[in-house]
Amino acid sequence: MVVLRLDPLIPIVWRDPHTLQLGGDPALLVFERIAPHEERMLAALTSGVPRTALAAIGDCPLAVVDGFLDRVRPFLAHREEAACAFTVRARGAHRQLVGATARALGLLARPESTARRAGIVVGMHAIPPGDYRDWLRRDVPHVGVMFGDERVVVSSVVSPGRTACLRCADLARRDADPDWPALASQLIERPAAAALDPILRAEALGAAARLLVEAVHTDRVARGLVLTAQGRAERLPSAPHPECGCTVDLQASLG
Ligand SMILES: [Zn+2]
Repeated sequence: MVVLRLDPLIPIVWRDPHTLQLGGDPALLVFERIAPHEERMLAALTSGVPRTALAAIGDCPLAVVDGFLDRVRPFLAHREEAACAFTVRARGAHRQLVGATARALGLLARPESTARRAGIVVGMHAIPPGDYRDWLRRDVPHVGVMFGDERVVVSSVVSPGRTACLRCADLARRDADPDWPALASQLIERPAAAALDPILRAEALGAAARLLVEAVHTDRVARGLVLTAQGRAERLPSAPHPECGCTVDLQASLG
């Protein structure tokens, strides 16, 4: 039995004694001259009710119930299913700050959540492959968040086997600067000033979560971001690196 419930985060307010509105700003749905049976059904939907019980509560035929449900359906509670169950991994100097921000943003998944798994891996200056390798194996979509001295880079979404992985980006960086692996191994445990900015931390983790929710539910490959205290810029997704092999099946099918 499916219990229908209005999204508890949507406010219900009266515009005047005869007009009821769902949503604050913007108004999502307005019932002008709301009828008593509609009012009773809305009240029942705020606590949760099966469709068939609505007919009794509204004292109206099921066809009327269905017409009413067609109007309110977009505002029924579905956010729990629509969101992702995030795992946030952080290493390095500011891992506790990152963890506290993730918790404050409500990003840490409850163990009982049945939503699609998604990962956010956070590093200072660099992210070692060992921090996300299991997500590649287990087909968990993920995003890398890399704090530096003045900026934070939020990668585009890695959909394992379909888009370039974080190692591809690292290999491209090594191609551009052969000394990068040596630098990265020294920097990885060092502090990164950008991670000390609480607004940047929240912005970066929030952006990573938003990219993942979009990717999981629309299959769109969203671009990553570069964030600084001064603003943000979009970042092109990395190309698969020939040495990596993470999208080898895809490349074979394209080739
Ligand atoms: Zn790769």
